[in-house]
Amino acid sequence: MPFTVFHMGPGILIKSLLRGSFSLMVFGWSQILMDIQPLIALMTGIRPIHGFTHTFLGATLIAFIAAFTGKWLSEWFVSNMCHNLGRRQRALLDIPDRIKLWVAVLSSFTGAYSHVILDGLMHGDMEPFYPFTKYNGLLHQVSTYDIHQWCIYTGLAGGVIYFLVRYSLVRKVSDEG
Ligand SMILES: [Zn+2]
Repeated sequence: MPFTVFHMGPGILIKSLLRGSFSLMVFGWSQILMDIQPLIALMTGIRPIHGFTHTFLGATLIAFIAAFTGKWLSEWFVSNMCHNLGRRQRALLDIPDRIKLWVAVLSSFTGAYSHVILDGLMHGDMEPFYPFTKYNGLLHQVSTYDIHQWCIYTGLAGGVIYFLVRYSLVRKVSDEG
């Protein structure tokens, strides 16, 4: 999927359920890393568009890279870019200063593998199970329209759940304080 943003929908829903045990920033970072190779293919005309990075094997390598670099990048981003946020905004967004390594690994693997599954349902040039087989059994099991709808609605539902829970927690703390 050249539009990485659609992949964020399921990630936002997972974040709303797993909360501190999931990093949406590392998940998002893994989506960006996954789509670098297709972007280069589109710009240069080199084919296939969805190459080795869009196999489960390639995604495993990308997930490891995304976990370590994403953890470091996210922590750098929070310590350098989020200091202007007020206490209440920080509490509402629940931004952690540090990301545990297992949280980064869980988030990057969820990101990379969900990316292969979603793209595998849509793109005829994908071979998700390479080198074991070139056959893509995922292709067209769900229509592209339904996938896009699903990504949008999971994102919206996740956003609503996340902020409703955070808002009620922050209000409870303010009331008690
Ligand atoms: Zn992709």
